[in-house]
Amino acid sequence: MREIVHVQGGQCGNQIGAKFWEVVCAEHGIDSTGRYQGDSELQLERINVYYNEASCGRFVPRAVLMDLEPGTMDSVRSGPYGQIFRPDNFVFGQSGAGNNWAKGHYTEGAELIDSVLDVVRKESENCDCLQGFQVCHSLGGGTGSGMGTLLISKIREEYPDRTMLTFSVFPSPKVSDTVVEPYNATLSVHQLVENADECMVLDNEALYDICFRTLKLTTPSFGDLNHLISATMSGVTCCLRFPGQLNSDLRKLAVNLVPFPRLHFFMVGFSPLTSRGSQQYRALTVPELTQQMWDAKNMMCAADPRHGRYLTASAVFRGKMSTKEVDEQMINVQNKNSSYFVEWIPNNVKSTVCDIPPSGLKMASTFIGNSTSIQEMFRRVSEQFTAMFRRKAFLHWYTGEGMDEMEFTEAESNMNDLVSEYQQYQDATAEDEEYEEYEEYEEEA
Ligand code: GDP
Repeated sequence: MREIVHVQGGQCGNQIGAKFWEVVCAEHGIDSTGRYQGDSELQLERINVYYNEASCGRFVPRAVLMDLEPGTMDSVRSGPYGQIFRPDNFVFGQSGAGNNWAKGHYTEGAELIDSVLDVVRKESENCDCLQGFQVCHSLGGGTGSGMGTLLISKIREEYPDRTMLTFSVFPSPKVSDTVVEPYNATLSVHQLVENADECMVLDNEALYDICFRTLKLTTPSFGDLNHLISATMSGVTCCLRFPGQLNSDLRKLAVNLVPFPRLHFFMVGFSPLTSRGSQQYRALTVPELTQQMWDAKNMMCAADPRHGRYLTASAVFRGKMSTKEVDEQMINVQNKNSSYFVEWIPNNVKSTVCDIPPSGLKMASTFIGNSTSIQEMFRRVSEQFTAMFRRKAFLHWYTGEGMDEMEFTEAESNMNDLVSEYQQYQDATAEDEEYEEYEEYEEEA
């Protein structure tokens, strides 16, 4: 069995993590006490990827919960699935991080990190053959962002050959009122570029727009945003949790989607979009699901794929449907939009069908794309960062925790480099030298 250790940190991380477990438990027939109440063998076939089986026959999420203050984790514990988690896996402090990345990464968080690593290590040692880790966090605050990336770098150091997946919530002024979020996010991206293998980008700007424009919610709450996030997380992890061939583990997912090591930030699309508590009136057809899934309006990242090109992409369709029809529809999209796919990676779109639909839907689809247009989101954060950094505004909060201004400069240039790299591959065509070299190599082979 190839196990994954899940970690959730900070307010956002714990809130989206808790929702993730509610959704996953429902899909696998696990009730809030960890007992199996399901009706299909498929629910249990790969249950060990995310759950430990306790001696009493109960399933316990392989989850570690961390925070620098107790509040959010108390709410998780008293929430609908709060009793399912292993009590020793709640690790928390009392100080808080005050939306300061430096506190999470260098001071308060650094003090608590060893207790978290002890729990992570214990879970890892219990695994038969650990495939990797997944971390849920926001990038705009202090704990999930600063301490989350500290944990990621420590795990990388201790488990260099295991895969690191993150679900990273990018900040947007539409949703939050803390001005220093672009600082925290940029410092985090600097870390994620180096220490993560695959990042699922969940951009609050896009989530807000989907709630407001498509779902017609006039004042979207975190609960509304998190409903979209949990549906997306369920879709993204579907291939890891149920039997199948495509992207069946974290390594294979990375091999299919990451053509260059730094370019591992993915846009995720989901269809059908539904609001919390609402019922879908009718099931969509495969062509409708396909069309919506590729639509810029359904992307959980505020970037328009038509402003860039896809390096790679994967799609998971869920529910009872014809594989042949799915293949035809996917080919159709690519043929009609061939200029939006780099021609120097042939067959760069993969799709699969998983029989089990998400709870409450007959059919759904999830899309994971490595699109050069994601640079639009990084540019947005970078502009907000630079506007403040130029005047060194709010810097004393960070230097006061012992940080050097240099780290800000480095983080800024690393993110700008990332943007340039996306642009470079967006502009690259088959006539370029790299491709000729590749062709020569192929001929020789
Ligand atoms: P931390 O506890 O120090 O890690 O800080 P937070 O997680 O509160 O980080 C603040 C950032 O996370 C801001 O950009 C918020 O908009 C965002 N955020 C906080 N809670 C949630 C949540 O439940 N859902 C979403 N989508 N974003 C959140």
